Amino acid sequence: MSEAAVKKVTETTPEEVARIKDWINSEEYKEKNLARQHLVVNPAHACQPLGAQLVAHGFEGTLPFVHGSQGCASYYRSSLNRHFREPAPAVSDAMTEDGAVFGGQNNLHEGLENALALYHPKMMAVFTSCMPEVIGDDLNAFIQNARNEGIVPKDFPIPYANTPSFNGSHVQGYDAMLKAILQYLSEGKKVEGQDSGRLNLIPGFDTCTGNYREYARMLKAFGIPCTVLADISESFDSPLDGTYHPYPGGTPLAEAAEVLNAKATISLQALATKETVKWLSASTEAPVEVLKMPIGVNNTDALLMKVSELFGKEVPAELKAERGRAVDSMTDAHQYMHNKKFAIYGDPDWLIGMTSFLLEMGARPHHILCSRVHKKFSKEIQKVLDSSPYGADCNIWLNKDLWHLRSLVATDPVDALIGNTHGKTIARDLDIPLIRVGYPIMDRVNIHRYPIVGYQGTINLVTWIVNSLLDQVDATCEDRNFEMMR
Ligand code: SF4
Repeated sequence: MSEAAVKKVTETTPEEVARIKDWINSEEYKEKNLARQHLVVNPAHACQPLGAQLVAHGFEGTLPFVHGSQGCASYYRSSLNRHFREPAPAVSDAMTEDGAVFGGQNNLHEGLENALALYHPKMMAVFTSCMPEVIGDDLNAFIQNARNEGIVPKDFPIPYANTPSFNGSHVQGYDAMLKAILQYLSEGKKVEGQDSGRLNLIPGFDTCTGNYREYARMLKAFGIPCTVLADISESFDSPLDGTYHPYPGGTPLAEAAEVLNAKATISLQALATKETVKWLSASTEAPVEVLKMPIGVNNTDALLMKVSELFGKEVPAELKAERGRAVDSMTDAHQYMHNKKFAIYGDPDWLIGMTSFLLEMGARPHHILCSRVHKKFSKEIQKVLDSSPYGADCNIWLNKDLWHLRSLVATDPVDALIGNTHGKTIARDLDIPLIRVGYPIMDRVNIHRYPIVGYQGTINLVTWIVNSLLDQVDATCEDRNFEMMR
């Protein structure tokens, strides 16, 4: 049987393919690309509900509940699942066309009833996808109606947050859900004139389980009782024991309910906890401190000094020794990073911490790209850049995407990229090493188990970055320069 010839609709000659391949690396193309406004290609952010879902997983026995489309819910679940290589169980009330026309109350009520009966959570954290936000569903009224109609018990905890993704990103979704859960649980629990002696620690949108363990370890060394708010360290890094546990770990609900009775609160991501911090500051007389994410020595020092000041305790000797080891690792490696240019992209608070670390190493953050942020972010990061001569000539790109970044590094090259998996096409096309840090990392294993915060995190970052640069040297140098010793 002869095969029918397939007539192609368009033919592109190899010469034309080669011409376009060159052209997209040109200044002319970059200008056109940067002028692009109404289309996003390879975004450097995720949507609001994904941040809300991460928070929900961080509380004991909590079932994340998406009021909205099933497809959206599948996206957050699969994204978290691919990053952690762990289940990210969540339910959705699967609104479809009739919900979009008549409102999603019936979907929500049926979903709450079923989820409670089937999955036996201790709390359901409800958040929205775009569809119910566009039609203006009233979550407050819907949930109240569910209680009044006996669909859920009157006292069953159902905090909720509006997380419209056409506005903001996963960072704002994180903030909205965290504030909603804390407000709900702490309602009526504040005891005037007393404190529990505990520290509330808010890591922010942080998908590195190693970071949570690092915070816990440092505070244990101080001997300070601590409540990590939205603690995902077990939820997404629990032991494999042959049994499926739907809700491993998480901040105990009873502990979270005491949030307003703590001795102090420290948030480690200003932009990801803006509304939560505003509410906490207005609701308690205890200090609420906002620090930079402790990436690098300076930011870690600031965290430990603040803890020491708030609790009147000396920085423990073991942490001082760790600091010395981190500084030693930086000294051993600094010549490989000195004056090297980096392009970094991702979440705003993470970028501020990473910039600070690069400057400590005498490296040059050359392109910093962040999407869905306000000008406040560029002011904050500019302050960090201004603190070092290596911060001069850095380009800050607000509300751009990774296709923009490709043009930027094609025309104004860097020695390495630092960011999530979505930058790998740029790295491959332009033959630039990519050091994978941030969210999501879907093409390498176990990276989320290694801390990037604290002194241990500093050693990890130095190791990954410098060894990637040296791998590149070995892979690309001439034979005569291929040395055993680097
Ligand atoms: S942007 Fe909106 S519609 Fe798209 S996945 Fe996120 S929530 Fe769903």
